[in-house]
Amino acid sequence: MTDRYAVFGNPIGHSQSPRIHSLFAAQTGQDISYQAILAEREGFVAAVSAFIAAGEGPARGANVTVPFKEEAFRLATQRTPRAEAAGAVNTLSFDAGAISGDNTDGAGLVRDLKHNLGCDPSGRRILLLGAGGAARGVILPLLLENPAELVIANRTEETAARLALEFARLPGCAIDVKPDGTGFPGLAGRRFDLVINATSAGLSGAVLPLPTFVFAPRCVAYEMVYGRVTPFMQQARAAGARVADGLGMLVEQAAEAFFIWRGVRPHTAPVLAALKERE
Ligand code: NDP
Repeated sequence: MTDRYAVFGNPIGHSQSPRIHSLFAAQTGQDISYQAILAEREGFVAAVSAFIAAGEGPARGANVTVPFKEEAFRLATQRTPRAEAAGAVNTLSFDAGAISGDNTDGAGLVRDLKHNLGCDPSGRRILLLGAGGAARGVILPLLLENPAELVIANRTEETAARLALEFARLPGCAIDVKPDGTGFPGLAGRRFDLVINATSAGLSGAVLPLPTFVFAPRCVAYEMVYGRVTPFMQQARAAGARVADGLGMLVEQAAEAFFIWRGVRPHTAPVLAALKERE
């Protein structure tokens, strides 16, 4: 019997996850099926239950994307510390009635930075732009890499300040660096070695009010949005930064989920290359 997996979202038509996981499965010789499921806005839990109940083989797990990551967090009967810190779940595992929840977004970002881009966050001055779900999911994994500093800047300053305070007081975590939260005006005169855009501004083509000197010499600028050149990428390039988009993070977070489910870590480079070829 083939083990079944799915990704739930709304919308979901654009999702690359079925392709990524079928390439992982072919590469590692794993017998799985993986489908994209459009869940109604109020129907996430029902859709997951229907997926578990129906089908030929056993349902083993699911990925969860916008707007259901917080609901998936609540649905999980047990959660990893990184999912707890993120307050969101993007990977569910089903086992004999138990539902385990994890969040692989931060691990995916860190892996893309370190292994694909040669940019180790350790010792770097990091600026994280945005304070929504994507930003929240990557803060703990970034802090665990021991950066020199981590500043969270957001259009709504209070959200950044609240998030920074929350992670500065995270219980049970031996983290040396306490994040700092600010609005965009608070970035004046400050420089960073790694600037990560976790806002959704790029989706609407909005320009972020970033001071030019925020990009230090040899800075890496990372845009979480993928599949388009955003104003942030143009700003960063004009300031001399090395620019990457979020496609690598997408593939790496999927690889981490695949590893959780199957116990095998797929090679991501050929999958990333295949997706880039299609862009
Ligand atoms: P949320 O809606 O939770 O948060 C959006 C954030 O963007 C908020 O901080 C918001 O600020 C800020 N923002 C939105 N518009 C603007 C603007 N015009 N100017 C300045 N700030 C703005 O979204 P998510 O955190 O879930 O997602 C953020 C992005 O990350 C999305 O584009 C998503 O595609 C991408 N992403 C990529 C992944 C990958 O694997 N590559 C994984 C996960 C996410 P405010 O608080 O002031 O409203």
